Amino acid sequence: MSQHFCATCNRVRLSATGNIHLCLGQEDKAPLRDLLRDNCSDAELDQAIRDAIAMKPEKHEFVENPKKIIRVMALTGG
Ligand code: SF4
Repeated sequence: MSQHFCATCNRVRLSATGNIHLCLGQEDKAPLRDLLRDNCSDAELDQAIRDAIAMKPEKHEFVENPKKIIRVMALTGG
């Protein structure tokens, strides 16, 4: 947290519930479950993932806003 590396972070996490969590330190996520259950095409899935990653937050706010995140890291597997 004291020397965070958010500026070079390219990580996202796909949960078992079908959400892509875009950052361990923010609540931003993109739902993929409905798209997958509707038998989307590979191109549609690819675009949905790209759209999600384009929304990836710049950084966490653990210090500036410690109560902002309600999903602890252990729930995400970070
Ligand atoms: S807090 Fe978010 S942007 Fe920063 S390193 Fe972790 S996942 Fe990446």
